[in-house]
Amino acid sequence: MSDLPDLLSMTREELRDFALSIGEKPYRGDQIFSFLSRGVDYDGMTSLSLTLREKLKTETEFRLPSVLTKKRSRDGLTEKYLLSLIDGECVECVLMRHDYGTSLCISSQVGCRMGCKFCASTLAGKVRDLYPSELLGQIIAVGNDSGERIDKLVMMGIGEPLDNYANTVKFLRILNDKDGIGLGLRNVSLSTCGIVPGIEKLAEEGLPVTLSVSLHAYRDDVRQKIMPVANKYSLDELLRACRFYFDKTGRRVSFEYTLIAGKNDSREDAIGLCRLLKEKMRVTSHVNIIPLNRVEETGFSPPDPASAERFAAILRTEGQNATVRRSMGADVDAACGQLRRSLQNQVKEL
Ligand code: SAH
Repeated sequence: MSDLPDLLSMTREELRDFALSIGEKPYRGDQIFSFLSRGVDYDGMTSLSLTLREKLKTETEFRLPSVLTKKRSRDGLTEKYLLSLIDGECVECVLMRHDYGTSLCISSQVGCRMGCKFCASTLAGKVRDLYPSELLGQIIAVGNDSGERIDKLVMMGIGEPLDNYANTVKFLRILNDKDGIGLGLRNVSLSTCGIVPGIEKLAEEGLPVTLSVSLHAYRDDVRQKIMPVANKYSLDELLRACRFYFDKTGRRVSFEYTLIAGKNDSREDAIGLCRLLKEKMRVTSHVNIIPLNRVEETGFSPPDPASAERFAAILRTEGQNATVRRSMGADVDAACGQLRRSLQNQVKEL
């Protein structure tokens, strides 16, 4: 990775200052901002002089990821992309076509260091954080490749967004700029394994994103066995931070609950989860139940197909909103980190 200015990671204001710094008028910064957010490369920035375009080409870097491979599910509803970054690393994103619109799931880091025991993304640790340009670049690259408008964004791919805090927040601000991609932040969900200081800080940023918290257990001892982050922050501290997020932003927090056979899928788990959320959140929240996607290396098993619905039914009887996440794109390795992992394994075998 070079030290050249990374233009797509700059806010519009920063690009205006950048334009001034190279002897151009500030409005050139606005023009560049708008070109970059549409994925137009330097040669295509035809309203800029040839000299300026040449200068940008040699003195700056446009870190737009490129499509390495894509796989479409048999039903055509899911498209899994493997994108190549400027230093040859790669990340995944998944485009999902729902009846209410198109959503894109993006990655926040190359790899992950959170160590959740059931997850493919963390098996080889974290390589590096993604820059704002690479977070935006996933949306731009997939949007341009598919020609589809992206209505919703979920940060639920590889990595932990709150472990890449500054880049994530800057990315959200650039994403929201009307002269750029202009996606409303109410259409963005950010998923975290539960980094308490990150949640507290995010609550104060004035960014109305939906916070999604990976709970996966209602007891600290059970959670600690599957998520190392639980050794650092207790459920009590975590849910206190979630309540703080709601108080500050007015946005209801939603919870993810990955069901793992024999670990967290009993009736007692379902009832314990309801009690915990009622007691700590004191406001209705949503639980998204995700039946485990099997990752061979982890040794954990998915629950039998009926038990996710059974678990959801118990939650609803207890007055807790819950849905079972429809598994999309299982035939294209659409679960977190699986495609990147299978590529790594192929490379190892070569
Ligand atoms: N680091 C963030 C976002 C990435 S993972 C987080 O932890 O929330 C998105 C969601 O998928 C999380 O709830 C995560 O726990 C879950 N997940 C990871 N691997 C999974 C698997 N094999 N099966 C089902 N859910 C999984």
